Amino acid sequence: MIGKTHLAIGAASAWIGTAVLSLPAVFWAPMVGALFALVPDIDASEAKISNLNYKGIQFFRPFQMVFSNFKHRGFCHSIVFLIGLYLLGLYGFYAGFISAGFLSFAMIGYASHLLLDALTPAGIGLFWPIPIKFRLLPRVISPKTGGFVDSLFWIVGNVGWLLYYLVYFGASTVPGGGF
Ligand SMILES: [Zn+2]
Repeated sequence: MIGKTHLAIGAASAWIGTAVLSLPAVFWAPMVGALFALVPDIDASEAKISNLNYKGIQFFRPFQMVFSNFKHRGFCHSIVFLIGLYLLGLYGFYAGFISAGFLSFAMIGYASHLLLDALTPAGIGLFWPIPIKFRLLPRVISPKTGGFVDSLFWIVGNVGWLLYYLVYFGASTVPGGGF
C-alpha cells in the first residue's frame, strides 16, 4: 500500500489499542500509530518516512541508509524486525523514556503496515531471513498497491482516526458540546 494509506490506517489503528486492548484513549495515540506505520518502509529511499524532514533535516535518512541495504519488504517487514523494535521499546520503557501506552500504540501502528502490505500481491518477507513471501490472500484476488482497494483503505483510515478523536475527545473538548 502507498505511504498515505499506511499513515491513515496507522492513525486509525489507535482503535485497536483503546477499543480492543482497553488502553486509555490518549490524544497522541493516532499520531504515534501513524508515524510507526511508516517505519517498515525505511528500507525504501523514496518512502515517506525516509523523506520526512523538519527545516530541511531528514531525521530518518541515516536509518534509511542502513536499512536500504536490505531488500524492500524483507527484514523491515519481518517478525525479526518487529521483535527487535519491541525489545528496543521495552528498553525505552524500563529506562523511563517512553510509557507502556506509547510502546503499545507504536507497535500496533507498525503491525498495521505489515498487515496492509501482506494483502498485496507482492506480499512481505515476514519470516526473514527465510526468503519466502507471505501473503494474506491468494495472489489473484490480492489488491494492488495504489489501486482501488488502497484508496478505500485510505478513506477508511481517515474516517477511523477522525472518529477516534470525535468519540474519545469530541464531546469533552467542544464547549457545551456533544451530539
Ligand atoms: Zn511496506
